[in-house]
Order: sequence, then C-alpha cells, then structure tokens
Amino acid sequence: MGKYDTQYLSNKKIIMKSGQTGAKLRGNKKNTSFFSRCTLKDSCMKPNTGAAFQDILSTYHFMVASTCLITDQWEPSADIKGYDTYDFIVVGAGSAGCVLANRLTEITQWRVLLIEAGGDPPIESYIPQFDQTLRKTQYDWNYKTAPTGRINQANVGEIVHWPRGKMLGGSSGINGMIYFEGLPDDYEKWHNLGNPEWRPDILRKFFKKSQSLQDEKLLQNPLIRNTYGLHGPQIINTFNSTYRNLTLNVLSSYNEMGFKIREDLQTAQLLGSGIFRATAYNGRRASTASTYLSYIQNRTNFKLIKNTLVLKVLIDNNQRAYGVLLKQKGKIMKIFARLEVILSAGTINSPQLLMLSGIGEKNHLEAKRIQCKVDLPAVGKNLQDHMILTVPVFSNYPGYENIDEKYLDVALYAYNRSGSLAQARIADILAFFAKDKNALIPDYQSHLIIFPRNSTQAKNYFSIYKEPIAQTFANLIEEHSVYIFQFNLLHPYSRGNISLNTNRPVDYPLIYPNYFDDTRDLDAAVEGVQILSEIVNTNFFRSINAFLGRYNWSECNAYKTNSADYWRCIAPQIVTTVYHPVGTCAMGPNPSASVVDSRLRVHHVKGLRVIDASIMPNITSCNTNGPTIMIAERGSDLIKEDYGIVELN
Ligand SMILES: Cc1cc2nc3c(=O)[nH]c(=O)nc-3n(C[C@H](O)[C@H](O)[C@H](O)COP(=O)(O)OP(=O)(O)OC[C@H]3O[C@@H](n4cnc5c(N)ncnc54)[C@H](O)[C@@H]3O)c2cc1C
Repeated sequence: MGKYDTQYLSNKKIIMKSGQTGAKLRGNKKNTSFFSRCTLKDSCMKPNTGAAFQDILSTYHFMVASTCLITDQWEPSADIKGYDTYDFIVVGAGSAGCVLANRLTEITQWRVLLIEAGGDPPIESYIPQFDQTLRKTQYDWNYKTAPTGRINQANVGEIVHWPRGKMLGGSSGINGMIYFEGLPDDYEKWHNLGNPEWRPDILRKFFKKSQSLQDEKLLQNPLIRNTYGLHGPQIINTFNSTYRNLTLNVLSSYNEMGFKIREDLQTAQLLGSGIFRATAYNGRRASTASTYLSYIQNRTNFKLIKNTLVLKVLIDNNQRAYGVLLKQKGKIMKIFARLEVILSAGTINSPQLLMLSGIGEKNHLEAKRIQCKVDLPAVGKNLQDHMILTVPVFSNYPGYENIDEKYLDVALYAYNRSGSLAQARIADILAFFAKDKNALIPDYQSHLIIFPRNSTQAKNYFSIYKEPIAQTFANLIEEHSVYIFQFNLLHPYSRGNISLNTNRPVDYPLIYPNYFDDTRDLDAAVEGVQILSEIVNTNFFRSINAFLGRYNWSECNAYKTNSADYWRCIAPQIVTTVYHPVGTCAMGPNPSASVVDSRLRVHHVKGLRVIDASIMPNITSCNTNGPTIMIAERGSDLIKEDYGIVELN
C-alpha cells in the first residue's frame, strides 16, 4: 500500500482497507448469480418511508461521483497557427515524449511544443483491469505484422497484432503496467557498442531520477529501498491483487522448479519469481501522461496539441531539421523548430517518420518515390521483440467465475479502488529463469494470465488461432480453468525490420518481426519452453489435475506433447508478442549500422534526435517501459548538456 491509499471525496475520507481483496474465484460452483435470479417482477416499490431509498440513492451518487476521481483533468488542445516557431518540437506524447516535455520545459526560456496523434486517455486506460479492452479501439494504432508464409501459419490471417497506444501516455496508457529496470549487463552491451554516455552506473542515476517507489511494505527493506528512486515522477507500486490465493500457489510451483521466490525481482537482479512492481497506485494506472504530463499542462513555455498527426520532418538543403509538417482537423500546417525536432513516436512510427522525411535507405526511399535527403540504411532495421509462446495449462481449479462477486468488485472499486478492477488482466506474478541453473542473467521470462472455467475471455485469447486449434482449446475451456503461461525469449538473435508500404503518412508501414529467423532462437526457445512446461508436474498443479494443452495442428500431430520436436514444429506457427518492439532507430557510432549517435542525434542531420524505445541497440532483459522512461530522462539530460545547462542534482 502506498502513500496514495487515502482519497478524499466530497469531504469524505475513503480509506483503503489493507489486504482488501475483492472478489475471489471460487471452487467448482455453477454459474448461479443473485443478479441472474432477479427479475423485473421483483419490484423495488415495496412499502417504504423513503429513508432507505435516500441512503441507497446517496450510495449510487457516491459511486458515480467516485468514478470522476479516476481520470486526470486534461486541458483542451492548445491553439497553434501555421508557421509558429518553438525551440523544441517533440513528436509523440508516449512513454518517452511525456518525460521529454516535462524535463525540457523545466528550462523556462525554452518554448516546447508536444504533438500527439491521439487524444485524452479514456477511463478504461486508468482502470487497470480494462487494459485489454483498449485494443482495436481508437486508442490503439492497431498494427499487424506482415504475413511472410514462413511463420504464423496457425494464426488467423497469418499475422500478429501489435497494439500501440494512441493517446496521451502512448503505450504506457495501454500496457500491462509491469515495471522493471533491466540489468547492468543490458546497458553494458549498449555502452560497449561505442556509446560512452550509456554506462550502466550513469544510467542508474537516471532510473532513480524517474522512480518513486511507493510500496510501503517494500520500503521497509533497506536493500529494496536503495534499489529504487523515491522522489521521481514515475510512481511504482504493487497491485492490490485479487488473485493472491491463486498466485501464491503458482509462486510455490515456480519455487519448486528452482525459480526462487523474491520479494522484489529487480532487487534480485531478475532471477527467480515473485510479485512484480507496477506503474500503478491506488488502483489506478500511472502512465507517463499521469506522472509526467498532467501537472505541467499550465507551464507558460509549454504547448500540447492532440489529435494531430505529424506527416514528416522538414529538412533543409543543409541537412538541418527546421520543423514539421502536420495535419490537424484536416488542415495541413508547417510548424518551425528553432533548436530541434525530437521524434518520440515509438519503434514503429519514428522510423516511418524518418523515411517519410527522406532519411533512410536510399533505394528503399526512391522505390517509394521519396527524395532521399540522407542515405541512412539502418533506419527501420534491427527490430527486436520479446515473442510469446503460450503454454496453456488446463485444470479443475478455480471453478466458474462468480458473477455476483464480479459486480461486487465494481462496487469495491468505486468505494476504495480495490478488487479485481484494481489490477491488470495479467496476474501480477512472473518468473525469470535461465537454461543454466547457476546463470546470473536470465534467458527467459514467464507471464501468467488465469481464466476461470468456461471463460469467454479465455476463448477469445485462443481465437487468434485458426481451426482446429481454437476449437480444441475452446472445448477444453468449457470444462476447465486455464493458466496461460506466456513464455518469452529475452535475448533474441533474430532481427526484423520496418519499411514503408507507401509514401503516404496515413498508410501503415510493413512490419516484419522475423521471429525465429535466427535458428539459435528456436533452439533456445524450445529448451526454455520445455523447462517452463514442467510446471504441470509441481505439487500444486498435480493437486488440481493440471495438464498441458496441445496445439491441434496437423503438421505437428506426430510429435509428443512438450517434446523438443513438438515445440520446434509448433513454435514458429503460433508465436505472438509481449509487445516490446525496440531497436529500429538504433544508437551507435557507425552511421552505416545505426541511426542515432550516443547523444541520440540522427547521424548526418542537424537539429534532429530520436528519443524513445526505438533507439535501444539491444533489447533489455525485461519489459521495456521502464527502460524507455530512463532513455527519455537520459536524453533530456544530454540535450540540456548540449546547450550548456548544468543541473545541480
Ligand atoms: C499492449 C502493450 C503491453 C505492454 N506491456 C508492458 C508492460 O507491462 N511493461 C512494460 O515495461 N512495457 C510494456 N509494453 C511496452 C512499453 O509500453 C513500450 O516499450 C513503451 O511504452 C514504448 O514507449 P515509446 O515512447 O517508445 O512509444 P509510445 O509510448 O508508443 O509513444 C509513441 C507516441 O507517439 C505518438 N505518435 C506516433 N506517431 C505519431 C505521429 N506521426 N504524429 C503524432 N504523434 C505520433 C503515438 O500516438 C504515441 O502516443 C507494452 C506495450 C504494449 C503496446
């Protein structure tokens, strides 16, 4: 529980009850609900004096009023005029862009314009449990990978959906809120590639600058307290989990497998299992829009414009970026930058914008009829992602979802932000593990989602697969609960790419993740997924008659479930993503192999930087939001240094 656990509403102090757990998934009960038994015949108009109704109506009023406190207050989009000039133009108000807007506007003489293609985050972005309902809505760019005929043959359309947030907060408004920093080894690799500003000990300072750990229990542990920053804008806490009884069982299984339970996985250097930290507090998402942007809206040197698409960066004949071309309410405008344009549009859109602006591989640009201003072949290359292999474990526990308790959860959430709505759909535990039990760096990660028996959401989860896979799993779901272990390979060798489909900014680029292109990835994944699948043989899973679900795919039917041959056959066909694409504007010293230098300036272009997840030369050993926020903190500091501003901290 953090310091935000008390809340004020119309002079009423609502106090979070520590340990309040909301609805529980119960044993094998049929779906009988109090609400389903209520009919319109059960009139509420029994004799009454009015006193009871007054209290009931006041309660409704309280519940409705309480929901007004969930979202931030957003100012309307600022007015801009064509040919306006700002010192800095930041493109994209996502994980990185919000940080930059905040840090750059600390310098009062700099006028900063932040441009976002999406609008204000909807209430579903703030309520953790609704994270997945944002997908394929206007708040999601809703990208898809391009079919290749080589992988994803078992996926409907032979593609993988790649959601990306399109709102203030960007993907930090749609993500699973899992927070990690990564390992010194991750950043040592970046540093060793010839990026002197990115030494792990330097970066620790910027992680800490961003962080505010607020879990009061963890703060009692000096080691954990010392691992995190305590005074930064990015709130980090722990979900008030509803599933604790279930997740503790799974943790005991991980422990039995040798993935030792840790109080804080980041402090334990990402080896073992445990409850993860989240960018959330008091049952509410803490996107970078909430933590970095909401309170700077009224800075006089800052303008934020929303629902505005940047079409390209304007580059003059001296290869200097001097502004952007944008489209707002159907109107196309030029806006000028006196000092710099900064692209923080994310791993897909930043390279797309560079290419649309004439910066990229010459042949590719010319094939798309774009005049090449800077031949930079690495733009869009080096795409890396953490892929998922789903390991479905079916069992007889928990039973059906209790619908009454689901409604109670909504009431609990309105009352004190607890219950199942207060946590993401994904269970808040995970494991990091390695092939070699004595390794100091994890090779793999496992996320978990638990669905009760006959869950529609579980069926939807598998509906991305073609028949007969989807139906086979749907049949099992009707009779079983399912534990979905999402196995990730943390350090893939395969490299994908992003290229233009057309030269029109509104046309989506082509995304080729090339999962398993490098055979070492398949070898490593097969070994790891077999290790993880052994979880069915642990005490807890045996006690609930658990068994591994099998992908019913004719090409692989000859192989025994969980054999190396089985996974080798099925993995490339069912692979999906945990949504961590990075690397398409990689940082490095060599312009033929990278896009930005170690100060995040685009090679051969003046006045243009890229600062977002796309600059990672190698993907981190963990979820990528925390590292992206750090990149933006580091990037802001490099900009300040470049203009002679020395900060005291
Ligand atoms: C579904 C999902 C779940 C995830 N779960 C986790 C998790 O639990 N933990 C974790 O650590 N990481 C997670 N990630 C990854 C993490 O959120 C991203 O790595 C991180 O948010 C990337 O930040 P960014 O600033 O690079 O891009 P984004 O946050 O995507 O920001 C880019 C912004 O630029 C805007 N933009 C793009 N193009 C234009 C344009 N032309 N004009 C104007 N604006 C534009 C976009 O609308 C967006 O707001 C998840 C990601 C997704 C999508």
